[in-house]
Amino acid sequence: MRFDSDIKEVKGIGEKTAEPFRRLGINTVEDLIGYYPRIYEKFEIRTAVRDVIEGERNAVEGRIVGSPKVMRFKNKTFVNTYIRDRNGDPMEIRFYNMPYIAKTLKNDSIYVFRGFVRRKGAAVVMNQPRMYKSAEYDLIEGTIGPIYSVTKDVTSAKIAKSVSQVLSLTDRIDDYLTDEELDKYEFCSLPKAMKAIHIPKDEQELYRARRRLVFEEFLSFYHMIRSDEKTGVRRPDPEPFFEVSECNRLKESLPFKLTGAQERTIGEIFNDMTGGFLMNRLVQGDVGSGKTIVALEALLMCAANGCQGALMAPTEVLAVQHFETIKGMCDKYGLCIKPVLLTGKMPAKAKREALAAIKNGEANVCIGTHALFQEAVEFSKLKLVITDEQHRFGVNQREELMKKGVDPHILVMSATPIPRTLALIVYGNVDISVIDELPKNRLPILNCVVDSSYKDKMYSFMTKQIAEGHQVYVICPMIDESEQDNFNLINVGDAAEEIKERLGDSVRVGILHGKMKGDEKTRIMGQFKDGNLDILVSTTVIEVGVDVPNATVMVILNAERFGLSQLHQLRGRVGRGDAQSYCILMSDAKNEAAIKRLKVLNETNDGFEIARKDMQQRGPGDLSGVRQSGELSFGLGDVAEDSDICLLVTDLYEILRKRIGHMKVGKIDFRTI
Ligand code: ADP
Ligand code: MG
Repeated sequence: MRFDSDIKEVKGIGEKTAEPFRRLGINTVEDLIGYYPRIYEKFEIRTAVRDVIEGERNAVEGRIVGSPKVMRFKNKTFVNTYIRDRNGDPMEIRFYNMPYIAKTLKNDSIYVFRGFVRRKGAAVVMNQPRMYKSAEYDLIEGTIGPIYSVTKDVTSAKIAKSVSQVLSLTDRIDDYLTDEELDKYEFCSLPKAMKAIHIPKDEQELYRARRRLVFEEFLSFYHMIRSDEKTGVRRPDPEPFFEVSECNRLKESLPFKLTGAQERTIGEIFNDMTGGFLMNRLVQGDVGSGKTIVALEALLMCAANGCQGALMAPTEVLAVQHFETIKGMCDKYGLCIKPVLLTGKMPAKAKREALAAIKNGEANVCIGTHALFQEAVEFSKLKLVITDEQHRFGVNQREELMKKGVDPHILVMSATPIPRTLALIVYGNVDISVIDELPKNRLPILNCVVDSSYKDKMYSFMTKQIAEGHQVYVICPMIDESEQDNFNLINVGDAAEEIKERLGDSVRVGILHGKMKGDEKTRIMGQFKDGNLDILVSTTVIEVGVDVPNATVMVILNAERFGLSQLHQLRGRVGRGDAQSYCILMSDAKNEAAIKRLKVLNETNDGFEIARKDMQQRGPGDLSGVRQSGELSFGLGDVAEDSDICLLVTDLYEILRKRIGHMKVGKIDFRTI
């Protein structure tokens, strides 16, 4: 077996089982080793009912008392039962939409129940737990297990098993870092890191393994940038744009005055596009700083010059919102932009029509999700590509586009503040504009961190805001979509039920989550945007970019389950208009790291400050519960989160380049094996 062996050679993977692996992009043994777990789960040490920590996952062993109750309510089923632990303390166990589980819950049988726990008065309730036989749990108690992203016909366990078959191959790798260096940077050796990322002994080892592999990732990326001359030099633009009056006309028609920072940024973009070189520019501006209008000006410039532009958003919801905002402005101000929307979930016919309009040039602005641009979109004259709220592009994107035969101006818009040096690593030779000024009309958001005893007050506050004509977001944590925790979906439903119960029928409540169909999502979002819903209960699908200026209250439930920058993004959904806005972070977490995180958010609204604090606060022990939004992400590394490693790469690059000799870009094969 070698790194480049086909995965069919791995024991247990045959002709047919190889298929789902290939769909995940795993073709060789090397791919398999490089297929890192998406998250990890820690199998907690068993606790007694009286010691459970609320709001967190607990493992409680107990004996089932009596037979389960099965209830139906509005096409949902609930299965309830009680257990008693060693001390005789009772705990209620609830399952949603799992009617079949009732058969398993036999009176007097003993299980370890593992799940999130809430207190309801004196009672302790565990929702949707996973169940283990005692002996089974003995084997995994206290360990950390990998969870892989899966696709149809392959489970995470199957991937774990296949990975474990080939990990010993990594023993053949010689590390090029010295033991002193490993120590100093808190890295594992390379072979150890490759093993431990899949099968970590403990959190400390996982931390070091991850750091090491992130270093590898950044190093090969940096190497690619440094050695690729194409990205180092400015690319001439054979057909520079001309200044057009349309752009000024748009500015003058807007109901508000652009901020100085917006004006400056637009000016820089126009200079790029008329200057004889292709633009490669990053626009950084905190949430709510008004990046969309900047994008629109660029698209207008492009359209008025007879070319096509594309605007890519990271989510369907955001793509639709951009489309509607832009379409609305085109109609209102009579712009020469003819936009089309292109998303994965569109009906086939609409998609065909959109593709045709792009191909024959009838449409001159195409707005959609990233995924689509990787497929077969043919443009007639693409000259500008804008990516919103997503960072993986830059150099890579340009290369991808060039392969398609287009070499456009590139503009990346991001709310994630990263220092300039890091931006240079991520985007290669990029110019940066910073929108460091919020529109004048904004009042700073008022924050509070509260526990669930504040609920009554919160509901009366919501009622008051709604009576004043404002709107409210309520966010519930999005846990694992694919695995056991998927009661998040019910969480949204539950929260909505509770709100309706408390606030009465006159309050219009809508629900939004990732498992809804695209058009349904669009419909609900539209209703909220048009003011036909007072409250939107949602998962993080609304995290980036969504713009409803009339919404003034952001309530985040289980706030401890989100990362700092994610919380900042969520909070950025309010405070977008003239009215005072509020962010209520609700959490019953007792865990110190979580409390610290929420405190940071409570104290500042400044994205840069938060990003800095975020970096300082990370360390071992910060496992899966907190995930960043996935922006800026490489395979493992996150440029914001791992900025110290990023900088280390620039520091060590020259030395390592000499030490390693000839480096080839790739995952493993550029090392001496
Ligand atoms: P983001 O930078 O987060 O993408 P948006 O572009 O969505 O922000 O803008 C947020 C809101 O602020 C929008 O409703 C937009 O119309 C409004 N806006 C943008 N620029 C200004 C400005 N100069 N003055 C007042 N409001 C503005
Ligand atoms: Mg935006």
